[in-house]
Amino acid sequence: MKKIIEFSFLLIFAGTHCLGQNYDQPMMYLTNYTIAKGNNSIGYVKLTAGEIESITVGGEHEAAFKIHKDHLLSVRPEKLKPGAASFDVIISVKTPSGELTNKFRIVKDEFIRNKVIAHRGAWKNTGASENSIAALNHAVSLGCEGSEFDVHMSADSLPIVNHDPTIQGVSIAKTNSRELLSRKLANGETLPTVEIYLAAGMKQNKTKLILEIKPSELGKESSIALTRKVVTLVEGLRAQAWVDYISFDYDVCKEVMKLAPYAKVAYLKGDKTPAELAADNFFGLDYNYNVLQKNADWIKDAKSKKLTINVWTVNDKYLMEEFLKSNVDFITTNEPELLLSMVK
Ligand code: MG
Repeated sequence: MKKIIEFSFLLIFAGTHCLGQNYDQPMMYLTNYTIAKGNNSIGYVKLTAGEIESITVGGEHEAAFKIHKDHLLSVRPEKLKPGAASFDVIISVKTPSGELTNKFRIVKDEFIRNKVIAHRGAWKNTGASENSIAALNHAVSLGCEGSEFDVHMSADSLPIVNHDPTIQGVSIAKTNSRELLSRKLANGETLPTVEIYLAAGMKQNKTKLILEIKPSELGKESSIALTRKVVTLVEGLRAQAWVDYISFDYDVCKEVMKLAPYAKVAYLKGDKTPAELAADNFFGLDYNYNVLQKNADWIKDAKSKKLTINVWTVNDKYLMEEFLKSNVDFITTNEPELLLSMVK
């Protein structure tokens, strides 16, 4: 019995008193970060561990928000500043062991729903480099539902946007960010950090940012370290409303869901059934078109389990038609212009 008491004490101590980044510390989050038109409910205030005793709302837009007994955060639309796209709200939560305060960004949901996800941004027909901020901006101005990008981590733990684990023959994981950021993309842009990339994407609220966490060439521990860095960065920038996550690494996906239970996470590799993904609380599957063609019943199964279906990388008109007909939720493509012309 004594051991159990000591152990519980240690847990409480670890959960409330450690400074710095302690991923076992309870974290506050919202179940949703957007304001949908005609719906005043935003989402529930929750903790990753521990009980909520009371909640207060503060900040510049305090009068526009309300907390209900069941911890639902709602909005009074008439009190929102007209014309603004996002509003910061400060939420303080009292728990039996202390108080947690966090600032969240709530975004008007004007995100486009047309299934078109630009793969590494819109680069092929625009002259922008893949995974550049220019490619992201083109995807936004085309009116894509989402713009996908890939993330690695430098030797000194800075998340960097790039598809391959190397840039110009240099390993990202084994090179310091100072050296990496001296490199230019083919379109003249500096290799973007994830922070700069997200900040660029947050200037609008039409196109979602589909963040792919790449498994590290240094192994699982580095992949998990990158995952933690990325989630911390997204939360620090208050980018939760914009970002959905994807990865080929199942453990990375599960780590995102553990750290950020509100996050929409889809798995890329194609070796799990819809039932397996649903059992692990995934938002969706994001599979190569060959996988979905070989497993004819997975689209139906995923729909019945309320998983979203994303298919990649579909560049052919006839394949696009096939997947539009089967009513998948998203199609990732290097040809967003073509797909847009088909969905409009
Ligand atoms: Mg990718």
